[in-house]
Amino acid sequence: MNRYAIAVLPGDGIGPEVTAEAVRVLRAVAELHGFSIETAQYAVGAAGVAQSGDSLPPRTAAAVRDAHAVLLGAVGHPSLATAEGRRRPEAGLLALRKLLGAYANLRPVVLHPALGHASPLRPDRLEGVDMLIVRELLGGLYSGQPRSLAADAAVNTMRYTAPEIERVARVAFDTARVRRRTVTSVDKANVLEVSQLWRETVTRVAQEYPDVTLEHLYVDYAAMRLVANPAAIDVLLAENLFGDILSDEAAVLTGSLGLLPSASIGDGPGLFEPVHGSAPDIAGKGVANPLGAIASAAMLLRHGLAEAEAAARVEQAVAEVLAAGARTPDIARPGERSVGTREMGEKVVREVMAGREVAR
Ligand code: NAD
Repeated sequence: MNRYAIAVLPGDGIGPEVTAEAVRVLRAVAELHGFSIETAQYAVGAAGVAQSGDSLPPRTAAAVRDAHAVLLGAVGHPSLATAEGRRRPEAGLLALRKLLGAYANLRPVVLHPALGHASPLRPDRLEGVDMLIVRELLGGLYSGQPRSLAADAAVNTMRYTAPEIERVARVAFDTARVRRRTVTSVDKANVLEVSQLWRETVTRVAQEYPDVTLEHLYVDYAAMRLVANPAAIDVLLAENLFGDILSDEAAVLTGSLGLLPSASIGDGPGLFEPVHGSAPDIAGKGVANPLGAIASAAMLLRHGLAEAEAAARVEQAVAEVLAAGARTPDIARPGERSVGTREMGEKVVREVMAGREVAR
């Protein structure tokens, strides 16, 4: 029997509430598919600062490297919003991604048919939306040197090497192969030299994948395409800053932040977390939507543990629970009955276990 060690980093705010449900779902699907999940919890974010004065405590840093995968809730606390250095909760998350060598951030954006009303777009624009955004996560403006800030001038540097572009492009092409076989690469090659290298390198990598179609879009046009015809996009590949902006734009298509999962993969164990933050406005109330965390657990199964069938089972359970009408307050229509975090998690667990007969 395969045994997997999962480091669980619940973090702050609603993080512990939603990760608890994701862990319950992982246990259920492991039982069903005949593997075992061993979890251990570690502090990160404001919880790490409370424990050791560091948003990524040394104990957490040591543990994640030995795990098969890392499941994270969210970080951030109002009391530390202006904290400096590693006392800033978000600094712990950045340090964690770097530590794990997580250079590719994967964000699927899928519209659940029953939730079309929650989107700001017209329903006819949304039909068939099912995309995966692959964002380069370690390079570009976020880490390029030199960088500086003076009273009257500031500098950031967008820098990429061809190997950095190649490795993230391969993630995009590999995932496109098990999807609709199209990669849309985003750049600003009409203005930026870095984008010219990006375009050349992605085109070269594409030659290894003759079964996948590659198109290039300028980032401004990509931003328009995301709202004008989102269903046409399969895998969208972008550098760090463009990917950050476009993935948030794509996130609103589904109508709720609470539904969206992410995976950050690279050289070490993968990091899996919902897209949303710690939501201090609803923390501790038991109303947070756990489906983004549960869908992140599905990504952990697929990309972190190569348990693709178990991942599909969880994703199907989420879709079925939504189709059956279960709603946390963030996705409920006005006046519609809603359920809490725990009840939503229980419904998914029950739906996963309902697959018992099918799996055997
Ligand atoms: P947020 O995502 O925490 O919340 C934005 C809005 O969405 C809030 O109204 C919140 O109630 C709602 N929301 C978010 N997740 C939800 C869920 N699962 N169910 C129901 N409603 C949900 O973003 P914010 O308010 O800008 O940031 C709050 C804190 O989180 C800040 O400290 C920020 O730095 C941090 N943050 C962390 C991450 C992360 O851990 N990856 C990401 C974004 C923000």
